[in-house]
Amino acid sequence: MRALIVEDEPSLRAQLVEALRSAGYAVDEAAEGETGLHMASTMPLDVAIIDLGLPKLDGVSLIRKTRQQDHSYPILVLTARDNWEAKVDGLEAGADDYLTKPFHMEELLARLRALLRRTNGFSESVLRFDSLNIDTRAQQVEVDGTKVELTAYEYRLLAYLAINAGEVISKAMLLDHLYEEDTYRDPNVLEVFVKRLRQKLDPDKTLKPIETLRGRGYRLALNRVN
Ligand code: CA
Repeated sequence: MRALIVEDEPSLRAQLVEALRSAGYAVDEAAEGETGLHMASTMPLDVAIIDLGLPKLDGVSLIRKTRQQDHSYPILVLTARDNWEAKVDGLEAGADDYLTKPFHMEELLARLRALLRRTNGFSESVLRFDSLNIDTRAQQVEVDGTKVELTAYEYRLLAYLAINAGEVISKAMLLDHLYEEDTYRDPNVLEVFVKRLRQKLDPDKTLKPIETLRGRGYRLALNRVN
């Protein structure tokens, strides 16, 4: 999952970046509204966290312009304490949820998970498919009730395919949504990860959880239970 953080307070921004990276997100960050708008308009994002009080371009204008450009990923706004007008403005401009400062990082992460799964039509934090369960809170995966040990990168890949279940996801999309701009990206490495993920989830090749569509990408080929 790829997240944008637009926040002008350096220490809070650093905390957000660290918390999201630890939670497995690829993170882009901006310290003011103009750069934030550029990133919000051009990056392949899954979610954005936008402070409303920003230099150069305020958060409400940033959100309004982003929505005018038809970007529909969920947006969570950060607001100062007791400023209810700002929350209303943010929601009216197209934000999906808000948090009042100061907040607990755990709450922010829980709200992001909820936004992401609701956007994709899941109602609970465990994504269930045939015999595969993905607990997005604990970041744990089970097949037939048995825990499967995945690396952080394998988990991210599976969670991204799962939350977009049924859709064909190209390699370019996976690289965009799982890596940050300046990291080394290689489609061959991605193929290795997919192969390993298949071996771990389906050693007997009975489940066939990930389908390869030649020249188009990958698809989670299991039936959704919830
Ligand atoms: Ca601010």
